[in-house]
Amino acid sequence: MNTRLEIAIGIALQTQVLRICPIHNQLYCDQEHYSDDENMARAFAVAVELVNQHQPYAEEFHHDAHVLTDLLSSTIGAAPDRCPECLPPPHSDVTRLSDQSSEAYASR
Ligand SMILES: [Zn+2]
Repeated sequence: MNTRLEIAIGIALQTQVLRICPIHNQLYCDQEHYSDDENMARAFAVAVELVNQHQPYAEEFHHDAHVLTDLLSSTIGAAPDRCPECLPPPHSDVTRLSDQSSEAYASR
């Protein structure tokens, strides 16, 4: 794992956008207990502050906070909703929910 990725994951964990399964040590994105947008906004704020105000981070990212925020987005986007080694969600529920929301959208 490279330094930049470690920093991005560290921020995501600190702001609770990402979590680590205590059993399997796998990263995942906890979307059940926290609103995505709020935590993402906090994670980006921390990222920008680190790059702008802390020299080691500034050097690592060449004073460009966007490099870190982009990395954060892709890291968070790639994380599964829950630990992949814990029980997977039932597929029937997922299908039903997405059908309902597409119907609601179409009726507007
Ligand atoms: Zn697990």
